Amino acid sequence: MIRKYMELTRAQMEQVDREETIVLIPVGALEQHGNQAPLGTDDIIAGAMVEYLGRALEEAGEGDFPILAFPVIPVGLSTEHKNFCGSVTLKPDTYYHLLYDISESLYRHGFKKLAFLVCHGGNAPVIQVLSRELRSDLGLSPFILSAGAFGHPDVRATVSEGNVYDFHGGEMETSMVMAVDPSLVRLETAEAGIPSAFVGNQTLKTAGSVTIGWVSEDWKTADGKPIGIGGDPSGATAEKGRIILETSARELVPGLLEIRKWKA
Ligand SMILES: [Zn+2]
Repeated sequence: MIRKYMELTRAQMEQVDREETIVLIPVGALEQHGNQAPLGTDDIIAGAMVEYLGRALEEAGEGDFPILAFPVIPVGLSTEHKNFCGSVTLKPDTYYHLLYDISESLYRHGFKKLAFLVCHGGNAPVIQVLSRELRSDLGLSPFILSAGAFGHPDVRATVSEGNVYDFHGGEMETSMVMAVDPSLVRLETAEAGIPSAFVGNQTLKTAGSVTIGWVSEDWKTADGKPIGIGGDPSGATAEKGRIILETSARELVPGLLEIRKWKA
């Protein structure tokens, strides 16, 4: 189990080796994830990743690994989702300053290594910019961890055949929420989404060498209704979610071991 920052007393914090300890900062989002999955999907996944990561470290014989989990940052940069009901976003500069101020406070107490656990892709560009600023300004070592091992063969194998666009709010994310609490998912309301305007393009895509600042309205149902999710969540199961969370957590362990050895 990974110790939680918020559960330590001041006296316990004074005893923490803050030079060596990695502060893991899970960054989530509060945004629409289609009809079927909750607004807090990324926050729920972020919380679960901390638990699974703790188990993966124990499995690897690293039960006393020097890491402290910061509380999940529940709201992030969700500009692409803001027109869908329930989505909440910070502006890019607000989000940057929020994370900067948290990092600066940790720096003041002597922490040197921060690891942002990115549980919402839309947060990543701000965190990349921020991490360079923190390193240049304060001499911190700010690492960036991608929470989901979505390219791993064991994770790819959980995606139903033909579900080629699985991504935000799709089968994988819905499965992960079900692994935490199946009662939070309304699978019977699920609809599939595809990036219609890009389908068939050779070059202009949602990611790659030629792209656009896409918004989630670009992801539509087969009959053209903006649905805001990628892929077909209807095949989601709790067991698939467990596999994705477990695999993703295990995949982070070698990186954490190298972060431990990193000298600023
Ligand atoms: Zn998500």
